[in-house]
Amino acid sequence: MLLQKCPFKGCGARITLLTYLGKDELKRDIALVVCSQGHQSVAPFTIPVDEADGLFTPSELFPPPKGQWFRTPGDSKILIGCPGCGSSGPVAEPIHHIESDGTVVPSWTCPYGCGYHQFIRLKDL
Ligand SMILES: [Zn+2]
Ligand SMILES: [Zn+2]
Repeated sequence: MLLQKCPFKGCGARITLLTYLGKDELKRDIALVVCSQGHQSVAPFTIPVDEADGLFTPSELFPPPKGQWFRTPGDSKILIGCPGCGSSGPVAEPIHHIESDGTVVPSWTCPYGCGYHQFIRLKDL
């Protein structure tokens, strides 16, 4: 399931914080989630990549343009060109984990505060 609402019984409030914990024995992605009411739950989640409008293409340019990603030479950090404001922000370890298909978990929030917040995937990683 895509985890958007608080799984706490009878709550259903919006998830405000999602921290990726790893995989369970069924190979599902597990996250620690906190809702706007303050409930903490550990729950499985999946990212429906088709619904993610954060699909980023590789860039040769530094800083990467909007909607593109760039790997810095040397330290191999991934930078994202924010589709909202055009600033470039990092896909930061240990906050983010990048799956082999380029899916970034948890969701990415623009560090410059423009409000861009999406599940993203890096194309041709
Ligand atoms: Zn809740
Ligand atoms: Zn931004």
